[in-house]
Amino acid sequence: MSVNETLFQRAQITTPGGVNSPVRAFRSVGGTPRFIKKALGPHFWDADDKQYIDYIGSWGPAILGHAHPEVIAAVQYAATQGLSFGAPTEAEILMAEEICKLVPSIEQVRLVSSGTEATMSALRLARGATKRDKIIKFEGCYHGHADSLLVKAGSGLLTFGNPTSSGVPADFTKHTLVLNYNDCEQLENAFEEFGDEIACVIVEPVAGNMNLIKATEEFLHSMRRLCTAHGSILIFDEVMCGFRVALGGAQSIYNITPDLTALGKVIGGGLPVAAFGGKAEIMAHLAPLGGVYQAGTLSGNPVAVAAGLTTLKLIQAPDFYSHLSKQTQKLVDGLNNLAKELQIDFCADAIGGMFGIYFCKEVPVSFDQVMRADADMFKRFFHEMLELGIYLAPSAFEAGFVSAQHSDSVIETTINAARVALRKIN
Ligand code: PLP
Repeated sequence: MSVNETLFQRAQITTPGGVNSPVRAFRSVGGTPRFIKKALGPHFWDADDKQYIDYIGSWGPAILGHAHPEVIAAVQYAATQGLSFGAPTEAEILMAEEICKLVPSIEQVRLVSSGTEATMSALRLARGATKRDKIIKFEGCYHGHADSLLVKAGSGLLTFGNPTSSGVPADFTKHTLVLNYNDCEQLENAFEEFGDEIACVIVEPVAGNMNLIKATEEFLHSMRRLCTAHGSILIFDEVMCGFRVALGGAQSIYNITPDLTALGKVIGGGLPVAAFGGKAEIMAHLAPLGGVYQAGTLSGNPVAVAAGLTTLKLIQAPDFYSHLSKQTQKLVDGLNNLAKELQIDFCADAIGGMFGIYFCKEVPVSFDQVMRADADMFKRFFHEMLELGIYLAPSAFEAGFVSAQHSDSVIETTINAARVALRKIN
């Protein structure tokens, strides 16, 4: 039995499913999860000492590659000054100033410790500020595991959602209207019917939780227009795509100013930092100024903020994003060329340092299209790649991530492995 298998058996005794976050369990692809011992640059090593090229990057944060020496040094120094104070620090001001500078729609920001906290708090704030209950989300967008966001709807139906997770009372989700991603007509109809009751629309402007799906320009711009017309708050959930697709996030690419933005992942540089922020007049509703309560024992933790601040500094290096995008595009071009060479229904797409691979003819633009891709082919591809030392997301519904350390030779090794894997499964 391999060390990974032994560890997985042991983990399942004391931890439900053997993991602390479900997708790590390899449930949708089968097999034994790899237990990671260490990571450096674009690589990590499992408990059996096998090396992998890593394309999950901790599900987004590892944009600089793993264990960047400057980030490690900053964390080490911060730790010597004390781990947590429960009182404000100057580093938190610097972090807030940096976020407001890089994402101009954010006039004020509050730091939290996870993306779930960021979206959950943004939602409460939107409801508190508008004094309305109803919210709109889109099928296939994941915003963390807060109750009223864990909803899906019957495909194509304009309906208030039922909880996706057991343990969420239907009463908690009865105000959540779930619509189709990239469906402008449905969005117009929803606003026509419920417009003045809608507190907010929350959206991943580049969706990374149903594989990678880019919003159309028209979709996001009509969302902005409708929110403004009806006094609803537009929340961009950029926990995943913020600082990942561009320095200013997806909002800088689409040239849209949301009212509130949720951030996470990259801004913590691998430690637990997330944030939500936006218009100062909306943020003023938060306690201690206003009546919307939100708090956190470890919010703005000094060690985590040291990792975040250093990461935010390093990603502002000249050409950082053009290099990251170029490397990601090389990977995607290589995979698309293989699809042609091998005449296989397979394609790939990218934006910034984020990519998607799809076992279908054309890049999907909707949740339904993603669902129609060949899940069995993905599963087989995933395992062949894993065997060849390439660690992809263990689910056909997750985006992949490239770091600044994914060099030409790392990308070439990946494409060569993909050729072998695709030939074998075709
Ligand atoms: N929002 C988006 C878009 C995400 O991708 C995620 C996590 O993957 C979250 C929110 C929740 O973040 P966290 O896992 O840090 O709670």
